[in-house]
Amino acid sequence: MNASLLPLDRLGRPLHDLRLSVIDACNFRCGYCMPADRVPEDYGTDASQRLSFDEIDTLVRVFVRLGMRKLRLTGGEPLLRKRLPDLVHRLAGIPGLDDIALTTNGVLLAQQARALHDAGLRRITVSLDALDPRVFTDMSGRRGQVGTVLAGIDAAVAAGFSRLKINAVVQRGVNEDQVLPLVEHFRGTGHVVRFIEFMDVGDSNDWRRDRMVPSSSLRDMIGSRWPLHPLQADYRGEVAERYGFDDGGGEIGFVSSVSTPFCGDCHRARVSADGRLFTCLFAADGTDLRTALASGEDALAEHVAGLWAARDDRYSELRGLPEVRDRRRVEMYLIGG
Ligand code: SAM
Ligand code: SF4
Ligand code: SF4
Repeated sequence: MNASLLPLDRLGRPLHDLRLSVIDACNFRCGYCMPADRVPEDYGTDASQRLSFDEIDTLVRVFVRLGMRKLRLTGGEPLLRKRLPDLVHRLAGIPGLDDIALTTNGVLLAQQARALHDAGLRRITVSLDALDPRVFTDMSGRRGQVGTVLAGIDAAVAAGFSRLKINAVVQRGVNEDQVLPLVEHFRGTGHVVRFIEFMDVGDSNDWRRDRMVPSSSLRDMIGSRWPLHPLQADYRGEVAERYGFDDGGGEIGFVSSVSTPFCGDCHRARVSADGRLFTCLFAADGTDLRTALASGEDALAEHVAGLWAARDDRYSELRGLPEVRDRRRVEMYLIGG
């Protein structure tokens, strides 16, 4: 497809990024995503319902034809997907795909980091909400140990990954006191901690605005301990606002989709593990891609281009409106953030 045929949505936004969920099961039950009292222990779509590696390969090639350059593998917990390094190896060979990244809770990273690096993965984001062992374990739904995740980060560095992103969701009254320790721990390591506002994704996490800590107050708190200056965005549509430490201790980021919506630059599609396209993190439903996928690359390209051209999502900019606020929303663990 030549450049002039690359689809733009109804707000003029190109399709540049894809978040692909490889599995919807998870070994954690973070309260803000997959609360243990709402999601059964054995939750997970049957393996036969998930896109196969062949289907994922075709799908990614088609998205590249439509302009996608950055792919992020996510979940559920993506490291639970069997033979993930084989998938990474296949995808890393797709011409035109500039960047493959992975978001993980890090529990299985120590076992898999080397195989993932050997397969061609170069960028990893690890979610880590607390350093205090008790707070961490509570936030994981009593499933995880912080030491396992820190060991996973060390193993990733030993395997050749550098400059990891460390994502922390901050909730009022839960882990605000973990913010400065997280910054202190990772300052000077080259890794970039990014604080994410607690979002009203899905319908299970009992989101309330007063439980969300706005990035501006975190920035003030961090900046009064370690003075900060704003940095330029790395690329158009980058979701995190970047700040550097004045003393040269590296950088941190803030993802502020509640307090400072960035829909105008949102060029990200999401595909669930069972092959549904979601054009917004807050969409109610996805659109099945498997039927078109079974008909080959051209049919799928036409289908996705049509869906993208019809897109007019801008939930974060409209979330104050009752008709938008009260709509059903897809769960985060189905589309991976
Ligand atoms: N399981 C992997 C992990 O946790 O990194 C990947 C999937 S998880 C859904 C992707 C990201 O979404 C994580 O960084 C997580 O913290 C974030 N997330 C989940 N629910 C959220 C919420 N309600 N608000 C903000 N971020 C959320
Ligand atoms: Fe699992 Fe990630 Fe959701 Fe936590 S945020 S429950 S680790 S999918
Ligand atoms: Fe993109 Fe939807 Fe988030 Fe807006 S609310 S930035 S359109 S995912």
